[in-house]
Amino acid sequence: MRTTWGSATDRGRVRPLNEDSLLAYPPVFMVADGMGGHSAGDVASRLAVEEFAQLAGRSTVTPDDVHDCIQRVAVRLRDAVDGGTAGTTVAGAAVVAHEGASYWLVFNIGDSRVYRWTGGELEQISVDHSVVQELVDSGEIHPDQAREHPERHVITRAVGTGSEPDPDYWLIPAAPADRLLICSDGLTSELDDPTIARLLAAEPDPQGAAQLLVTSAVEAGGRDNVSAVVVDVATVRDAVDTDSTVPPTAVHPSVWDDDVDGTTQPRPTRPAHPEVAP
Ligand code: MN
Repeated sequence: MRTTWGSATDRGRVRPLNEDSLLAYPPVFMVADGMGGHSAGDVASRLAVEEFAQLAGRSTVTPDDVHDCIQRVAVRLRDAVDGGTAGTTVAGAAVVAHEGASYWLVFNIGDSRVYRWTGGELEQISVDHSVVQELVDSGEIHPDQAREHPERHVITRAVGTGSEPDPDYWLIPAAPADRLLICSDGLTSELDDPTIARLLAAEPDPQGAAQLLVTSAVEAGGRDNVSAVVVDVATVRDAVDTDSTVPPTAVHPSVWDDDVDGTTQPRPTRPAHPEVAP
């Protein structure tokens, strides 16, 4: 599979440091949004990128590679920061192969996001681990209220916060002309989905699109660090005859062999929060 990509990040207008980090190098594309006092967040997000960078340059990775990466980030964070006050979100997509076909393994822990933009439609693949998402899910607030909610920055899962990291995974067939956006919450708290879709449509070059999105979020307020990775699928060798409207399938590496049958028929959706295998 051949991809083209671009990335941009900005400290924004308010925060003294940029504690976001990102990686854009096939087959792995990800952002990490670090948190913790005294630049601990900076350390945490960089450490996540360092681990994922070990997968860079391969043609594909396995779901277990990604899962192991996240576990290693947690272990290293525990060792690096005594007291466990540093944490990071991790969200991204990696190219995985199954029976000769290319898929995206989308992964998320925290409130950074992965979107797929295809045929002019923007679809959020990942689901935030946040207080606000829980309020939306329970019907207490409307999704439109989420972006201005006072607790919008409170996340319910992260890497490096003491407990075992508990990421979610989705599997989507890679299709030519698909564009993925991976971004930190500094982007989505400034720009709503229709604006993001309009900006992705306005700029065909992925580097230009990433820069345009970040610049627009900073101009819209820049209240947080802002990061974006944009990945375009140029060609897919041995592409399955795929329909991009196939809904993302939530998977877990431990059920990989049972779960993927090499077809692109819609598969039963796994629980959004699968158990992590011991
Ligand atoms: Mn942030």
